[in-house]
Amino acid sequence: MYLLLIALAGYVNFQRVGGKVQLSLIVTSLALFIIFSSTSFNSTFARPLPDETRFFTSWVHACFVTILLCIGFALVEDELSEDRKFIGDFRQAINNGQFELLYQPQVDESGNLIGAEALIRWNHPQKGIIRPDSFIPVAERTGFMPELGNWVLDNALNTLAHWRNDVSTRHLTMAVNVSPDHFLETDFAINVIRKLKLLEIAPSNLKLELTEGMFVSEVDDLVEKMNVLKSAGVGLALDDFGTGYSSLSYLRRLPFDQLKIDRSFVLGITEGKRGESLAKSITQMGIDLDLQMLAEGIETNEQFQFMLSCGCTAFQGYHFDRPISLEDFIERVKLYPM
Ligand code: C2E
Ligand code: MG
Ligand code: MG
Repeated sequence: MYLLLIALAGYVNFQRVGGKVQLSLIVTSLALFIIFSSTSFNSTFARPLPDETRFFTSWVHACFVTILLCIGFALVEDELSEDRKFIGDFRQAINNGQFELLYQPQVDESGNLIGAEALIRWNHPQKGIIRPDSFIPVAERTGFMPELGNWVLDNALNTLAHWRNDVSTRHLTMAVNVSPDHFLETDFAINVIRKLKLLEIAPSNLKLELTEGMFVSEVDDLVEKMNVLKSAGVGLALDDFGTGYSSLSYLRRLPFDQLKIDRSFVLGITEGKRGESLAKSITQMGIDLDLQMLAEGIETNEQFQFMLSCGCTAFQGYHFDRPISLEDFIERVKLYPM
């Protein structure tokens, strides 16, 4: 009976961090429950309890397990209703226009503006501005990310469609972050291509940013989708490069155009020779693989000069600009060299 409880606890845990260990805990507990409850063991060391004690303890155990199971169900229900509440909040936020896209400029070696990364913000009526790191993990856990991701994509593409009408913005690319469960939706690639066609946007003006966390499962499906997008002309960038724990061998198979070197490597260059060598080697590896190298999180001119000397050809960071509203971005375009 207690094995059922362990299986339930394993299930709750599996909801939080899905993984093979959690899954095998559930399967093993259930299998042991079936085996123990259907077979009788007679150990020579066992001393049978008197009948009156057995009668009493079996009631105690059954009641105790039932109470614990009910608490378990209540906890699961509580968690599910919390998730349902989050989904409700997200949907309301979309409908009430509480989400906003900010745009962070990206520049080339000479500091010329080459594009922007769209970064989402939640302008919460009570909590103020909420950064994506606080709500994207919740949206991913509750399965809301495809819906939110579509909102981001639609808005970013609408902005691109406007940029196309002006000579000062026509050449700019738009980088959009895509979550794994959104990217792996069956019709994701087809939808993106359809939207680009509908808005008459050149596919090369869009760059989808994926992260290493995506390559842990369903790699074949991922490669297929990436190839469809790539052959349509859509750009593909690997975000936060170097922070994941996956094997580098995926770089052989995945058709990326750009690697975005994570901010932590740029920060590391001020911490001595090893940090410098690491930033240099990573950049060189990307260049050898024929990938465009973008350095993220450039905050000072020294960092810019160093990453430039490593061979990076694109840059993004507070040194150039913070993520800014669309109106501010249009103002800023005029200030950049053309
Ligand atoms: P990211 O895609 O790596 O975006 C870069 C993050 O670094 C942004 O944080 C940006 O504001 C910040 N940043 C840029 N330059 C500098 C700098 O020089 N110094 C420092 N300290 N920070 C800098 P933000 O906007 O809070 O976004 C955090 C993460 O949330 C993003 O990391 C991205 O993974 C995710 N995210 C943001 N918007 C979206 C979205 O629309 N969809 C999805 N799926 N994820 C998003
Ligand atoms: Mg990004
Ligand atoms: Mg990044």
